[in-house]
Amino acid sequence: MFSKLESGGVFALAAVLLVFSVALGFMFDRESGLIVYAAGCSVLLLYSVKKWSLRQEDLVFLEKRLKHRTLRYKELLSILPEGVMMLKNGRVEYVNPSFCRHFQLESPEGEFARDLNLSRQMKDLIVDEEQDDEHDVQSSDARLRVRLLKPDDEHLVVVSHDATKENLLNEMRRDFIANAGHELRTPLTVISGFLEIENEMLNRFTEADKARFSTIFANHSLMLEQSARMKNIIEDLLTISKIENNEASEDVEPEVVDVKSLVEDAVRSAQAVSAGRHEISYDAEDAYLIAFEEEIRAALMNLLVNAVRYTPEGGSIRVEWKSTSSGGRISVSDDGIGIAPEHIPRLAERFYRVDRGRSRQSGGTGLGLAIVKHVVKHNKGELSIVSSPGSGSTFAMEFPESRIVRAP
Ligand code: ADP
Repeated sequence: MFSKLESGGVFALAAVLLVFSVALGFMFDRESGLIVYAAGCSVLLLYSVKKWSLRQEDLVFLEKRLKHRTLRYKELLSILPEGVMMLKNGRVEYVNPSFCRHFQLESPEGEFARDLNLSRQMKDLIVDEEQDDEHDVQSSDARLRVRLLKPDDEHLVVVSHDATKENLLNEMRRDFIANAGHELRTPLTVISGFLEIENEMLNRFTEADKARFSTIFANHSLMLEQSARMKNIIEDLLTISKIENNEASEDVEPEVVDVKSLVEDAVRSAQAVSAGRHEISYDAEDAYLIAFEEEIRAALMNLLVNAVRYTPEGGSIRVEWKSTSSGGRISVSDDGIGIAPEHIPRLAERFYRVDRGRSRQSGGTGLGLAIVKHVVKHNKGELSIVSSPGSGSTFAMEFPESRIVRAP
């Protein structure tokens, strides 16, 4: 390439020659003027030709570099364990070997996605350009997790990840919890059964004997309390494992749930738990929810029991089932002790408690909100928590419009 200085020099020389040629033409003879004029034009012409040929070389060089880079990117994409397919206006522009392996495709480049041998679910995802979430897709021999990205209006990138091993491990973990829960439940039922019978016998002792054997009485009531706690933990673990199994199974279909009557039932049960210590009210619309009824019932009960647990006597609790601009929302609000902001993101983790002692004292297992979170996720909703210490909390399960059936 010519430097700026060189270009300036060439132009200056051409300009001087041209001006000189005009001066010669006027002062002396026309021929000498023409010769110098031709020399000036030649300088300019030579310079332009040289510059054009250098630009051509640059273009060739750039094209080579671009080709090399594209090749390098393709090489990198071809060794990725993740499958990548890029569509341009619905037609396959690029696909890597992992994607072909995941979906048993043979050189689909150039074909329209709708003509590929893909499952209906995959084709629907591509047509809907569902970008919001990951999707579980079953191919003939693998469990895949698929994500869609839209870099611009014309292109759509489909990324697939083989989750067969993760799924197997999850299945083993779920089975382990379910089996351990069932195995522990039987001996625990026997132990707590005997403890309850003994408790009835001990209650018949005179006050003097109770005072004399106070340590035995205290130990016994501790054993009763702890066996009840273990029973609750096992029941909660079994509930979570049941929801997880439902999540993994494709055979279980959601039903149309009459949320209003479900709220009424739950409020009655919560009033029994509160035993008159709180004012519990509700407001429910005549709308229905497409969901797994028993799961929603369990989640709502957990939220209500928590509201009773963490609201001092005399407090108010309110349940609402309402339409929103984006769907429907079941919420439980209380004016109880509230939760500090730093705890809120971790509340739904298994066994996470703000105050371990308080939770135990009130019969908590630390699994209630984990159950709620699973239920909400399985029913395509979201859990929102708004709380501040001393003024109360609102836990809301929010469901999308596609899950709401409004009364005509
Ligand atoms: P737990 O069985 O301990 O209640 P959860 O998973 O149901 O377990 O709740 C986790 C923690 O969240 C509780 O230990 C408690 O500290 C806090 N929490 C839950 N609900 C409320 C509420 N309504 N008001 C105040 N704190 C709450």
